[in-house]
Amino acid sequence: AKRMRLDKLLANMGCGTRSEVKKAIKEGRVEIDGETVRDAGRLLYPDRDEVRLDGETVTYQETIYLLMNKPPGVVSATEDKRDRTVIDLLAPPDRLLRPFPVGRLDKDTEGLLLLTNDGKLAHELLSPRKHVDKTYEALVLGEVTEEDVRSFAAGVELDDGYVTLPAELRIGEVGELAPAWAGRTCSRITLTIREGKFHQVKRMFEAVGGRVLHLRRVAMGPLVLDRTMAPGTYRQLRTKELERLL
Ligand code: URA
Repeated sequence: AKRMRLDKLLANMGCGTRSEVKKAIKEGRVEIDGETVRDAGRLLYPDRDEVRLDGETVTYQETIYLLMNKPPGVVSATEDKRDRTVIDLLAPPDRLLRPFPVGRLDKDTEGLLLLTNDGKLAHELLSPRKHVDKTYEALVLGEVTEEDVRSFAAGVELDDGYVTLPAELRIGEVGELAPAWAGRTCSRITLTIREGKFHQVKRMFEAVGGRVLHLRRVAMGPLVLDRTMAPGTYRQLRTKELERLL
């Protein structure tokens, strides 16, 4: 087992910010195995040593960061009455650490989904003030035009009157692309948005008379979909990926 600083453990377990927990330690409110410790940098074995803050045991839980290629047909929630969830796709040892999806993808949307039990990181990534970029690839019914590119760059008004932040739309192939829509023009596009309103991408295309037939998230902040991963599979974030995220 690895040793960890006392202040880091308390902060990671949500006992406060690093400076708040340092203060609590200085004030003599923290014990390790029954002994008051005033050194914030004290190293301990998180899975073995008993830490108490104001008399309450702080149970150490490992943090995990999982990158999933979400398949269509599962919901990005921790529980659902009817449908399978992304949590159902995890191996039992990973599920035990209680990760949850950071943000939502629609049931029919696939692609990059981050799962973690790090509430602080999730909060930061989802904060509307942070404007974390999300990039999607979509197949859209109809011809997506340069005019749409300009509209998306300026902001489009959704059905509820909300005007979206500037978004970057790139047009790929246009033509009879999807067999299921034989004879009808479809467009492949890539779209980067900096917010995450409910069904945002679908509603943005609806606002310009289009319809999203297929949607896949390929990036979120510094994370990029690992295209070697089959839909429904996941892996731990690599150290480099985690460093860019934290
Ligand atoms: N926008 C949508 O419409 N759906 C998603 O799943 C993600 C973004």
